[in-house]
Amino acid sequence: MKDLRAQFPAVHQKVNGSPLVYLDSAATSLKPQKVIDVLTEFYSRETANVHRGAHFLSDRATQKFEKARESIQKFINAESPNEIVFTKGTTEGLNLLAQCWGRRFLRAGDEIILSEMEHHSNIVPWQMLAEEIKIKINFIKVTDSGELDFAHFQTLLSERVKLVSITHCSNTLGTLNDVKKFIFEAQRFGAKTVIDAAQSVTFQKIDVQYLDCDFLVFSGHKLYGPYGVGVLYGREEILNQMPPYQGGGAMIAQVTKDGTTYLNAPQRFEAGTPNISGVIGLGAAVEFSNSLNLTKVLAHERELLERATEQLKSFSDVRIIGESPSRVNILSFVIAGQHPADIGQILDQQGVAVRVGHHCNQPLMKRFGIAGTVRISFGVYNTVEDVDILIRALKKAQELLS
Ligand code: PMP
Repeated sequence: MKDLRAQFPAVHQKVNGSPLVYLDSAATSLKPQKVIDVLTEFYSRETANVHRGAHFLSDRATQKFEKARESIQKFINAESPNEIVFTKGTTEGLNLLAQCWGRRFLRAGDEIILSEMEHHSNIVPWQMLAEEIKIKINFIKVTDSGELDFAHFQTLLSERVKLVSITHCSNTLGTLNDVKKFIFEAQRFGAKTVIDAAQSVTFQKIDVQYLDCDFLVFSGHKLYGPYGVGVLYGREEILNQMPPYQGGGAMIAQVTKDGTTYLNAPQRFEAGTPNISGVIGLGAAVEFSNSLNLTKVLAHERELLERATEQLKSFSDVRIIGESPSRVNILSFVIAGQHPADIGQILDQQGVAVRVGHHCNQPLMKRFGIAGTVRISFGVYNTVEDVDILIRALKKAQELLS
């Protein structure tokens, strides 16, 4: 893991006079030099638009862009590159589904199932749709230990349910859900399934054919890649039945004054000049991820999590939110009588970067009767020393706040 850490220039800096201890990878990961180099090279020498130029640079950019699509297809084991739609990120993927799949396939009286641990990006787009089309949204309950309540899920299923959209890994609790079990059950009722893999994609091999989901979304920036780029995977035959929600160049078969016909997926959902550098950078991030031994990554991040959990328990008045044995690299806690924002600020003064607040999980906060948490999360660059520095910094925070 030491060699890996050396590949991330951002970890080798001081913040507020102390060496940076970055414990906020669930918000966004740091970037390896290889990804940074690919972006620099693209902007330095390769800049050109894709899919239309009649010149060398444009051809090369197009080849690299489409090669990235194929790398991502293999990365998640999709059947065809046509099933890989480039988006801005997880949020756009889910909005696209609500608008394009939802408007096409949902009718008043239909039901969809989300869960109490969803990120707002997997709640709000569906609520916006529900305001227009009178669909009902039900939420799978979360247990006290921070897991999806499968028995409750089963009580929500019926022929009226057309979609189940759930997260693979909770960005607050760290719970890794056994989504295959939920997908299998949803399919028995003919419901389509969406998996939010924004967190899981960093440490878990994603295989959409094994999961047998209809859609899956993730963002590049949490996967050691650039900002403003992400992926919507969808089964090709369903994508081609969905109308696009943005019109413009690069997505049309023919335009006349009377109307337009569209290209098939993925182009029909990629109107306009895409995030070319982002996509090529994401291709490099996927290569980086492929070069990792994910079993080792999982074991390393779990070791850090266990060390942090154990040491946190020695603090008085600490409450860890979510204690599923499936957790890998995310840990949330509150300390009685101390505001997460105050703790975050004192940690920051010591160079320790964590996230505080509701983490775009307000229904989950309500479920646990809290306003927010302190969240620590690990990436491949974190070390055992990082955990020890965090604990020392936290002790100092406690002294100052008590
Ligand atoms: N879902 C989950 C589980 C997340 O953790 C996040 C990011 N915090 C998102 C969705 C939204 O991702 P983005 O902001 O990259 O669109």
